[in-house]
Amino acid sequence: MALSARDLAGSYYNEVITSPFTFFATAGALYRSLCKPVFVDIDLRTFNLDIAQIESKISEKTSAIMPVNLFGQMCDIESIESIDSNLYVIQDSCQSIGALWKGKKINKDVNCLSFFPSKNLGCFGDGGAVLTDDEDVYNRLKQTRNHGQSNQYFHDFVGGNFRGDAIQAAILSVKLKRLNLWTQRRQANAELYDKLLRDSLVITPYIDENAMSVYNQYTIQVNNRDEVKSHLLKNDIGCAVYYPLPLHLQPCFQYLGYKKGDFPNAEYASEHVLSLPIYPELTEDQICFVAEKVLEAAK
Ligand SMILES: *Cc1c(COP(=O)(O)O)cnc(C)c1O
Repeated sequence: MALSARDLAGSYYNEVITSPFTFFATAGALYRSLCKPVFVDIDLRTFNLDIAQIESKISEKTSAIMPVNLFGQMCDIESIESIDSNLYVIQDSCQSIGALWKGKKINKDVNCLSFFPSKNLGCFGDGGAVLTDDEDVYNRLKQTRNHGQSNQYFHDFVGGNFRGDAIQAAILSVKLKRLNLWTQRRQANAELYDKLLRDSLVITPYIDENAMSVYNQYTIQVNNRDEVKSHLLKNDIGCAVYYPLPLHLQPCFQYLGYKKGDFPNAEYASEHVLSLPIYPELTEDQICFVAEKVLEAAK
């Protein structure tokens, strides 16, 4: 990348509003598309964008809003769509394939998926897909994924080599048939955790009444997060912090000019969240064991 950080912060680039509490790829994709990420704080209950704060961040350079449907739960996509009809909505659904809002899948304007092995539908390496209900977007993306060519060896614009490998597609087409079953198992696992951790010092995931989560993660909040984490690891329970440093505080984004304190909810989440095992093959006994160890350590 020949551009300097200062160039990227310059006045001639699009701004895209997104979350500071997400996997790095959300904002990394914006940087590489010569867009300036503009962060908005999250709602601490859902970990998704705080929609009420979006409007004040819109400028004449804003071209899109990029909500992240984190941990398997879709954001209030209807409210986001109604903020400004001139802006594209680009959903990052890498963690929420199959998630619903008011009983519906919503693939507008653009909905991005990842098939990295840690996702609900994973391939055997790297892969991804984009869903859209907009024909112009569809055609543009199809051309973009193959070096921007219209006919073979004729290029209207510069795209890249973003083609999906056939071997990954073959694997995904077999696994796709089981996705609904795996989602149901994740939901059943979450329900059992909810029951076991209720009425304790642990804050269990909050799912909006309009949302159906596919639980890519089961993410709790606890005051003594690091202690609970090491207690679980000591008992051979895999668990992880998604994410320990919000994007506005990452060294690579210092050029954007944010500082500690700018997004208190994202920063609070980064210090208090812990994701427990939730994968479909877990047994009830295993879930009870995990919950018992969480309750032993939570203060
Ligand atoms: C996995 C993921 C991505 C995509 O990551 P890749 O490594 O490019 O597959 C983007 N956003 C979120 C929130 C993710 O979890």
